[in-house]
Amino acid sequence: MSYNVAIDGPAGAGKSTIAKKIAKKMNYIYVDTGAMYRAMALFLLRNHVDPSDSTAISEKCREADITLCYEQGEQVVLLNGENVNGLIRTEEVGNMASYASPNPNVRKKMVELQRQLAKTSDVIMDGRDIGTCVLPDADVKVYLTASSAVRAKRRYDELTAKGETCDLSVIEADIIERDHRDMTRELSPLKQAEDAVLVDSSDMTIDEVVDTIIALCKDRR
Ligand code: C5P
Repeated sequence: MSYNVAIDGPAGAGKSTIAKKIAKKMNYIYVDTGAMYRAMALFLLRNHVDPSDSTAISEKCREADITLCYEQGEQVVLLNGENVNGLIRTEEVGNMASYASPNPNVRKKMVELQRQLAKTSDVIMDGRDIGTCVLPDADVKVYLTASSAVRAKRRYDELTAKGETCDLSVIEADIIERDHRDMTRELSPLKQAEDAVLVDSSDMTIDEVVDTIIALCKDRR
């Protein structure tokens, strides 16, 4: 039986940074499900689909084939065969992903692929609905969060380190709006699973969060 760790939480909570580190230490495969929704968003943006037109999203998404492969331990997202890893980490793509992700046609394909991966490998998978919907029987479930101010500051630091100019208050407003969409959608909204452990990383270092979750993994093994 494969071992599954589910990490859910709002935008910018540090899920991917933490999950990557745990994957390395524990020898799990890291599955970044947000990247799959981002690849779909990129496809929709390239095709000039209006984010508020759910019928257009429903139809157009059928033309996108999104798969994952692993190169030297790194997840690679393929959009119709093209490696799009370098194109999906923008705020524009993240926002479009949260408009597209409530769509049942979009979610169905993604969830099937995610479950398949978890069935065959030990995974640490992060997203919004992993503990509640994708892997309800996961061995460990964590709801990782932090205050919106802290999350916005982390995003701001990340972007300015890359040389981008941005406005902290705009980033925070964006994060709050995206969380609201993710938490209030009808299908698989972001929420803490009943059996998930809440980890608030507002005042924790990355290593403290990693150690806390690894302790949970060892505990439940
Ligand atoms: O985590 P990340 O910021 O990459 O996710 C982008 C968007 O994809 C989220 O805001 C959410 O709308 C969607 N998503 C989702 N379910 C997941 C992962 C991401 O709906 N499991």
